Amino acid sequence: MRICVIGTGYVGLVAGAGFADMGNDVVCCDIDASKIALLKDGGMPIYEPGLDKLVAHNVREGRLVFSTDIPKGVAGAHIIILAVGTPPRADGSADLGFIFSAAQTVASALTGWAVVVTKSTVPVGTGDKIEALMRQHTRQDLAVVSNPEFLKEGNAVNDFMKPDRVIIGTDNPDAIEAMELLYAPFTRSSDRMLVMDRRSAELTKYAANAMLATRISFMNELANLCDSLGADIELVRKGIGSDARIGNKFLYAGMGFGGSCFPKDLRAAISTGQEAGVPLQVLTAVAAANEQQKKRLGDKILRHFGAAIGGKRIAVWGLAFKPGTDDIREAPALTLIDQLLAAGAEVCATDPVAIEVTRKASDPRVRFEASNYACAEGADALALVTEWHDYRRPNFQRLKGLMRQPVVFDGRNIWEPEDLRGAGFTYHGIGRGKD
Ligand code: NAD
Repeated sequence: MRICVIGTGYVGLVAGAGFADMGNDVVCCDIDASKIALLKDGGMPIYEPGLDKLVAHNVREGRLVFSTDIPKGVAGAHIIILAVGTPPRADGSADLGFIFSAAQTVASALTGWAVVVTKSTVPVGTGDKIEALMRQHTRQDLAVVSNPEFLKEGNAVNDFMKPDRVIIGTDNPDAIEAMELLYAPFTRSSDRMLVMDRRSAELTKYAANAMLATRISFMNELANLCDSLGADIELVRKGIGSDARIGNKFLYAGMGFGGSCFPKDLRAAISTGQEAGVPLQVLTAVAAANEQQKKRLGDKILRHFGAAIGGKRIAVWGLAFKPGTDDIREAPALTLIDQLLAAGAEVCATDPVAIEVTRKASDPRVRFEASNYACAEGADALALVTEWHDYRRPNFQRLKGLMRQPVVFDGRNIWEPEDLRGAGFTYHGIGRGKD
């Protein structure tokens, strides 16, 4: 099949490379000329495990090319995938400017019947608007299909190649057939394709992210209660996770969720509810709880040092919003760093892959170190923010020898309080009992 992907970001690049790997001819287009030039040069605009090899292999085989010439990419393509950003507006609603602009460009370039697939996360009813807009700009027949993407940054290639499910939103039989053909190689071991109407497909994406965000905020609130009552959220997590009705995934308390999806999609869902006259009270509370939680570790550090925080050096381990990615959009680390700097503390930060991207976006007072031990040297406290593998089992004796004061704030509960206390550290976690 000939496929044209519009928008070569986290989703577009993974999808383009994934479809090419199944033997399709794929053109990945973007309006960002520097991104396309970098990809043509063999570089990678993002960090995503395994993606560099997948891209390089398919470029070598001649199945994957990059272009800023969208009309040329669209001409003759059977499937056109819209994977541009849908960032939040100031009022929380999704900004659909990029997707409408892309849809218009695609429509003007269509050379025959095509399936236009919306992979970007868009509010319910956007597919109707895209279709109406496109029909104004082309005489070609087309079908607009909703196909929300569920990949996780940090595991995107694996998620894309082995999806839990593929949601297809359309009632057009020809489009359903084309989508079945497109996804058949990904769903060979079992039929994981769910075909539904377009609006239900659009809502499914928001519902999935909202449910996951709700679990996180729920556990974070319980963790805060554990801090007050002297209970341990890790034991509570195991206690409830073993109930098959609840399940043990996505039950970790921590510093709140960030990234380019959960916060934005939650706000967009809340905004959709308001527009529809159906206030989403649970999700409004989930979003508010998360904003508080992002400050939780910083509040603990400020409470620990009190008035003496000025000039104290705090080492921050982890900047990316989660392990496996260099994405720092809405990352809790940024909230923590702002809190610490505002209180007069010094910050030295490290991350296996996100230092450069953070350096460009953060206060010039922040110092960066590539090595986590160098980062901790001379620190009055260490804050663990992103649970990268590299940080899971450090040499605590070495760490203690490097730090000015052996105090750790474990924002992801990856260390055992008793082990750390046994090694001579003062330990603070999230919901690990009174501290
Ligand atoms: P991104 O910002 O990484 O990439 C978007 C790309 O689209 C950019 O490179 C931008 O230059 C390009 N673009 C914008 N307008 C364009 C146009 N008119 N023509 C061609 N290219 C254009 O975004 P992303 O993280 O890949 O997300 C894309 C969409 O997928 C969003 O709606 C997002 O919510 C959704 N999504 C993201 C993830 C994720 O983990 N990042 C997961 C599932 C769904």
